[in-house]
Amino acid sequence: MSGDLRQALEEADLFARKSLGQHFLLDLNLTGKIGRLAGIQPGETVLEIGPGPGGLTHALLASPAAKVIVVEKDPRFVAHLGRFFADHLDRLSVIEADALAIDEAALLASHGAKGPARIISNLPYNVGTPLLVKWLKAGPWRGPMCLMFQTEVAERICARPGSSHYGRLAVLAAARCTARLALHVPRLAFVPPPKVESAIVVLEDHQSPFDDLAGLEHLTAHAFGQRRKMLRASLKGLGNCEAILDAAGINPTARPETIEPEGFFALTKAWRAQA
Ligand code: SAM
Repeated sequence: MSGDLRQALEEADLFARKSLGQHFLLDLNLTGKIGRLAGIQPGETVLEIGPGPGGLTHALLASPAAKVIVVEKDPRFVAHLGRFFADHLDRLSVIEADALAIDEAALLASHGAKGPARIISNLPYNVGTPLLVKWLKAGPWRGPMCLMFQTEVAERICARPGSSHYGRLAVLAAARCTARLALHVPRLAFVPPPKVESAIVVLEDHQSPFDDLAGLEHLTAHAFGQRRKMLRASLKGLGNCEAILDAAGINPTARPETIEPEGFFALTKAWRAQA
């Protein structure tokens, strides 16, 4: 099948476009491993963003998912996927769209998806972070996520306080999910190889999430915007910051990289309460 996939790409003269962040996984052993990491359960709907040639889509179709919905911006690959997976179109829907602009809830409903959809993606690097933040804010349509990022971004998502990687992204992710770096994927696993190393992050939702992501984004922009400053200085723009810090039980002389995500949730609540 791997040979078939490469052959299909050659026959259709499908080359990678840099402008769309195209670095493909054509080794079906590796895509199968990523598919298993995703932990797809029987009957689930899977939403794949940026399927490209379909190496990962192949693994998703081999899983017990009831429905696989893929969203691809490049029309060349939309046509290719329809041809390559012609025998699977009872379970597979191929949508041509920009993932940054889609309304996932409406898309899933229009395809009869049942329950939350698991998101799986080898993301284009330039849109990975905005898409993750969009999905962290998402409603009940979204299930667990299994996503590829450049390693540096993966480390920022999974970082804990005290680490140099710890910042806004880790706090936003921790508001909704438990994130773990599940697999390092070397540059040479991609065709063509990107300049940077990559890693898969698996994100599972908490039972009791912190839901004010917009407030948390605002507050952490202040806190980490000047990460070497004490919080009483960096949060000054938020109004009575001494009172906010006091209400949240946070030491005003602390620096942001030492504060647990829960501290930022408490600060956001205290800021909202005084606004
Ligand atoms: N999943 C494929 C694989 O692993 O071989 C392709 C991965 S490639 C890194 C990223 C894919 O995302 C490309 O197919 C690209 O065309 C697509 N893409 C880029 N920007 C997109 C966007 N905004 N919305 C949907 N797809 C996008």
